[in-house]
Amino acid sequence: MATSDSSVDADADAFLAQAHQRLRQAVAARGDSTEPAPAVLARALSALPRAGQPEFLEGRGPKAALSHILDTIVPALNGQALSGRYLGFVTGGILPVAEAADNIVSALDQNLGVHLPAHSAGTAVEHAALGMLVALLDLGDDAAWPGRTFTTGATASNILGLACGREAVIAARFKSAAAAASSTMPAPAPVTVAEAGLLAACQAAGVREIQVLTSMAHSSLVKAASVLGLGHAAVKELPASADEPWRLDLDAVERELARDPAVASIIAVSAGEVNTGRFATNALDMPKLRSLANRYGAWLHVDGAFGIFARALPQTDEFLSLRANTAGLELADSITADGHKLLNVPYDAGIFLCRDAAIQTQVFSNPNAAYLATPPPAPTNKTATTTPTTTPIHSPLNMGLENSRRFRALPVYATLLSAGRAGTAEMLARMVRLARAVAGFVRDSPDYEWLPDPNAPLESTHIIVLFRARNAALNEVLVDRVNATRALFVSGTSWAGRKAARIAVSSWRVDVDADFAVIKRVLTTLAAEANAAAAVGEAVSAS
Ligand SMILES: *Cc1c(COP(=O)(O)O)cnc(C)c1O
Repeated sequence: MATSDSSVDADADAFLAQAHQRLRQAVAARGDSTEPAPAVLARALSALPRAGQPEFLEGRGPKAALSHILDTIVPALNGQALSGRYLGFVTGGILPVAEAADNIVSALDQNLGVHLPAHSAGTAVEHAALGMLVALLDLGDDAAWPGRTFTTGATASNILGLACGREAVIAARFKSAAAAASSTMPAPAPVTVAEAGLLAACQAAGVREIQVLTSMAHSSLVKAASVLGLGHAAVKELPASADEPWRLDLDAVERELARDPAVASIIAVSAGEVNTGRFATNALDMPKLRSLANRYGAWLHVDGAFGIFARALPQTDEFLSLRANTAGLELADSITADGHKLLNVPYDAGIFLCRDAAIQTQVFSNPNAAYLATPPPAPTNKTATTTPTTTPIHSPLNMGLENSRRFRALPVYATLLSAGRAGTAEMLARMVRLARAVAGFVRDSPDYEWLPDPNAPLESTHIIVLFRARNAALNEVLVDRVNATRALFVSGTSWAGRKAARIAVSSWRVDVDADFAVIKRVLTTLAAEANAAAAVGEAVSAS
């Protein structure tokens, strides 16, 4: 069958336009339930193609494929993007403008690996979006963060942070070992991890151990330590106290830094901690950590996946203590943040910022690939019209893990362009207000216990609330019972060895009063049922 190019285009356009319209209908039909009904989920699972079926891998054509997805799969997905009461994990929702931008990303399918300023605006947009984030998060001079890139998520950003840290702390040890060996001879060429590998570089630098000093690190940081050949055991928990395990013990950090010159250290600040939402440092701690890192040649990394966005809250008394807990984070050498959580752009959008672009490119450059080469970045000439920044743009494929890369900057760019500082602050404030309303409710309720510290000020709450039911039987099944309502979704966790429930408010859809009313009703009803059951001596059933 011969078709002209224009009819192919027309067919593709008609298909896509119809697909988009049908998607909107399917989303509307799905509603805002936080989870699919069990029967809908079962139907989807039984409809998946199975090897051995006669029609397996028999092409159905685009229309039938789309119908299958919209009619069968979409209703069986959860409501994390569609409900302000999906409070599990820290998922974030998706702002309409970010979704529209993400559709553009797919439609144009740019590969943002190489910086080609004469051929595409893509990398300049990515650079600008990251510059807008530096300003939104109040991290100081744009030029102080020449190492910047979008990653697949905070996990990848933590890998980048520890990789840069590993490279830098070994380089620092190598330099001091070479200086100690001879003050008269010219310095030997450095033996780097990038070039010689971890074992040879450690040996040349006299490094026997690399440790990561932290408090209540996110599991992905421990994973990063494995990926980078440091090992899970390299991650050392230094809690300030048993009551505040999320806070970093600065005296212990200093003891570890001073322990042995053959031990090199990366300090990783949990800003904030994913179970409690609390922060490792306060306003006074970060300057102290900075000077300790300088004195001992350590790298200072901040994992601020969701917590660092507290810095973008409105500058009012309401959020004063959150600002104190996130003050000084700009003193880090590298920072992890997530766009796909509180910023409400779609997956996958992680953010990585680094003060040392030379170390970052040393780790992540593609060596010997002439076809990927771009001219070395030069600061943009003031009279040039190419980009509105003076911070050089590097080819992204030399700044992170991937070579081929989705244009994941565009939804962030769209969001910040649309909401600006004030709109973003207002969205973030709504999340905090709902979390604080729930924290106040569980604190004051006779049926629930606010964790980790029932006497903490409400203002210590950012977007996470940890709690348990006082009725032990209800507490056992609390998360299942809450989630079965499909009006609300919470995560199960454990605290101090006992089951606990945890909410994380992270969607732009939050309507503080309306959502709080639903949360309060669900928790009140479940407690009343459990109390009634206890009165007649029955256990609470799981459903
Ligand atoms: C979510 C989270 C991560 C992991 O982020 P992904 O985007 O899921 O890779 C890392 N650190 C913290 C503190 C987090 O909350």
